[in-house]
Amino acid sequence: MGKIHVLSEVVANKIAAGEVVERPASVVKELLENSLDAGSTRIRIQVEAGGKKLIQITDNGCGMVRDDALLAFERHATSKLKNAEDLLSVATLGFRGEALPSIASVSRLRLETCAPEEPSGTVVEINGGKIFKVEEAGLPVGTSITVRDLFFNIPARKKFLKAESTELSHIASLVTHYALAHPEKHFELHSATNAVLTATPVASHSDRVYQVFGKDILDQLIPIAAVQAFERLGLPQPPPWRRAEDDDPPPQPGEIRLHGFVSKPEIQKLNRNSIYIFVNGRLIRDRLIQHAITEAYRNILPPTVFPVVLLFLEMPSEEVDVNVHPSKTEVRFRQQSTVHDFVRDAIRAALMKARPVPQFLSEIHAHPTASPSLTPGNAPEAAASSWHNPYELSSGAGFSLRAPEPVSVTERFQFQGGIAVEANAAVSLARATDIVPDDGCTLAIADEPEPTSQLAVSLGSLKPLGQIRESFILAVNHEGLWIVDQHVAHERVLFERVLQQRAAKGVESQRLLMPLILELTPAQLAVFAEISDELARNGFEVEPFGTRSLAVKVAPAGVDASQVEHMLHELLEQLAREDQRTNLEAIRTRIAASIACHAAIKVNMPLEQHKMEWLLAELAKTAFPFSCPHGRPVVLRYSMKDIQKAFKRI
Ligand code: ADP
Ligand code: MG
Repeated sequence: MGKIHVLSEVVANKIAAGEVVERPASVVKELLENSLDAGSTRIRIQVEAGGKKLIQITDNGCGMVRDDALLAFERHATSKLKNAEDLLSVATLGFRGEALPSIASVSRLRLETCAPEEPSGTVVEINGGKIFKVEEAGLPVGTSITVRDLFFNIPARKKFLKAESTELSHIASLVTHYALAHPEKHFELHSATNAVLTATPVASHSDRVYQVFGKDILDQLIPIAAVQAFERLGLPQPPPWRRAEDDDPPPQPGEIRLHGFVSKPEIQKLNRNSIYIFVNGRLIRDRLIQHAITEAYRNILPPTVFPVVLLFLEMPSEEVDVNVHPSKTEVRFRQQSTVHDFVRDAIRAALMKARPVPQFLSEIHAHPTASPSLTPGNAPEAAASSWHNPYELSSGAGFSLRAPEPVSVTERFQFQGGIAVEANAAVSLARATDIVPDDGCTLAIADEPEPTSQLAVSLGSLKPLGQIRESFILAVNHEGLWIVDQHVAHERVLFERVLQQRAAKGVESQRLLMPLILELTPAQLAVFAEISDELARNGFEVEPFGTRSLAVKVAPAGVDASQVEHMLHELLEQLAREDQRTNLEAIRTRIAASIACHAAIKVNMPLEQHKMEWLLAELAKTAFPFSCPHGRPVVLRYSMKDIQKAFKRI
């Protein structure tokens, strides 16, 4: 007996419809969700050419009888809903009966399926939506769907697909996410050349995190688990006079459960790509939950960086409306603020437990640390307490609270004696761009400003006097007093040198004493495959090592072995979130900026006189000495005129 039926027009019209097939990863998503809905415990995915040529998903789920196998390709044919009321409590990942017909209409699709206790299975072949073969065949129980030549009949769509490796990395991260949500199931993803992901069944989510991401990531995560009863069901209750007629007891309000992992405050990601939220097993993007996460990390992470978060929320299906977005990636909670506060408080509590409370309190009043103002006049002690760590947030000495503000020309710098000097007196010679605190290696590369040649000349005559807190060089010449940020100054010098070497013979490199083994996510591996040639020209020698790791044997000269890992991870992550990886020029500048940042002199580092002289001389030789490769100012100047004015001599 078949299970699938075509929804009535009334129900079909209530469904948030839209185009589901956008790229290979969306096909994988729909087919994977179908396999999970079919109760499969083993799912194997094979792709070729980033899914453009072939996507094949084989599962051991409930399969379909012959009639269903044909009906499945009708629009709005589903076994998961019957009437409009069912839409109020969807317990399956799919519910619209649109995926199979949509995919079949833009590809060459072959379905092989067999339900248990059926004497034989069914094969259906469809080209561009037209069924041309239906036959019986001896098949194992389960379903295998092969999608070839996606968009073969819509060339305009095909043109919009990205490079194979980009499409593969989208598929890889999608499959990774679903594997994380279902540790008890077996997932495999293969490309034409290698096994991208193999996750055998494991007992717990943490085992799965270990399996997929490795020990390092697992060590950085704090487990989280919480449960709370809903006070009432989100659904509107019938009015009292109706309720009185009913003998049924009022429905029990269910509970909301949360478990998963959040990262320690030391971990700072440049984007939200490491935040995975699952609601009732469905991977979603949700502003409300994102906001709850940001709130939980307020004053713990600067607002420009993001934690790693894996959250699994479970709640009664009536509490969440999944019928709000065509690709089912958004949901609407019926009790929004309850869900929001529950998530925020649960994460906050887990973080507080992992970190002693006084740490939070002592930092809460601290000032932005890398702000270009000379002295944060109104809170010197607080500034001092957060000083250790002006740029190196990830080293974890303390929390930093806010991203430093971009330099604003009208801002006034407070000297402590109560004398205010206009900020544009202390000319920050760089353009103000976005600034994030990390270690300065994380920003979008700013466009190069016009060379400021006259000022560059005056840099050449600078005499260093000493360092402020072993981080900023104080220097003078006849023009006035200069303050130079030693880290970004060196970064600028190295950045230009790396680009020059890259253009000439290749970047100087050094062999590491021991090859460094890096564990990467499938998405990062895909990016690596794409930029490996460029890395080689930039002084790296990196080889695949096993299925999920790389061995780094040679790295650019000057980058400390301990920094190489962080640097490559950061680089792959930056590039993974960009779709314009084909822009070689942009990749080159990113790599150069990253090498420069990691090889540069750090803050909190004493420098001898000759080293300061050398640095200032090298800086004077650069083409753009006044901003670092990330757009941050390198020098501040207090002209004689400003000084005299401040002393009321003029
Ligand atoms: P939906 O998932 O919204 O119901 P689809 O078009 O994705 O719609 O699938 C239509 C129907 O085909 C499903 O309701 C299900 O009954 C059946 N089906 C699809 N894929 C599988 C599978 N892998 N195993 C068993 N049945 C499947
Ligand atoms: Mg489906």
